[in-house]
Amino acid sequence: MAREVPAVFGSVFHQDMPVLAFENGSWQEVRWQQANELSLAPGAHCLHYGSECFEGLKAFRQKNDDIVLFRPDANIARMQQSAKLLHLPVPEAEAFHAALVELVARAADEIPDAPAALYLRPTLIGTDPVIGKAGVGSSNALLYILASPVGDYFKAGAPMKLLVETEHMRCAPHMGRVKCGGNYASALPWVTKAREEYGAHQVLFCPNGDVQETGASNFALIKGDEIITKPLTDEFLHGVTRDSVLKIARDMGYQVSERNFTVSELKEAVENGAEAILTGTAAVISPVTSFVIEGKEIEVQSQERGAAIRKAITDIQYGLVEDRHGWLVKVKP
Ligand SMILES: *Cc1c(COP(=O)(O)O)cnc(C)c1O
Repeated sequence: MAREVPAVFGSVFHQDMPVLAFENGSWQEVRWQQANELSLAPGAHCLHYGSECFEGLKAFRQKNDDIVLFRPDANIARMQQSAKLLHLPVPEAEAFHAALVELVARAADEIPDAPAALYLRPTLIGTDPVIGKAGVGSSNALLYILASPVGDYFKAGAPMKLLVETEHMRCAPHMGRVKCGGNYASALPWVTKAREEYGAHQVLFCPNGDVQETGASNFALIKGDEIITKPLTDEFLHGVTRDSVLKIARDMGYQVSERNFTVSELKEAVENGAEAILTGTAAVISPVTSFVIEGKEIEVQSQERGAAIRKAITDIQYGLVEDRHGWLVKVKP
């Protein structure tokens, strides 16, 4: 059985791909096609006016060889929300869920053991082949799902240096909660500059001092028994991992504070021994090792609490502990 972990995250795909099309005003039956190409009109709406959004979730091979999906319905609901905000046809939850489950079942033999996984990338694109439709949403759309065996994105002890950016935003504030490619393009100038000028791994966007998130992960501060993160607003992406981390942290006895906080509070907390974490599907939790604030680097003194919360979540994913929150959807056997 081929269960190799490709060296580059997301570079190898399972051969089959489900495609759900919205045509003539309704969603069509799922079609299965080869995942190595997609035919699209060069005038397609998504290629000109950014009518595109995506999702990222994982399936796991558990300790007893069961194959499970982690919280797929949360990702389906989030894509429905993104579609609405981008004026794209809203995918039907049931057909979307069924396509995900069948894709994972078809790719099951390629899912590596822990700590690897199968990463799933549902993508919704507007396909109207009319370049005159700049000021209207696309009436036709395709939802397709890629499946990619991936290794462990998390590397214990790896440096994670964040540049604290207080002048620029990741994206337009009303787009923050939309998981769309355009937001990534929008953040690229600052992310590239941070890497080149400061050797930073990520940018922590804190417009006017308000601590929000990085280019692709949510952010939380762990200060003693308190875990602090921004409350859900339109300005940033509502991560499934963020939600899982907060629930698990509560189980572990942390006090969860969803409130606004500033760069000054962050700086003072870190100087006094607080931890900081990034949360997202790829790595679950990446503990932050240092911040660059106003040109000065500040070390984060420990990464232990973040690592312990991470383990509590991956233990559920790989079937080492009971799934008390009902997060897993069994695909096989
Ligand atoms: C996807 C994403 C996250 C993390 O979301 P998860 O559901 O936890 O994977 C955070 N921020 C941004 C900008 C994202 O695109």
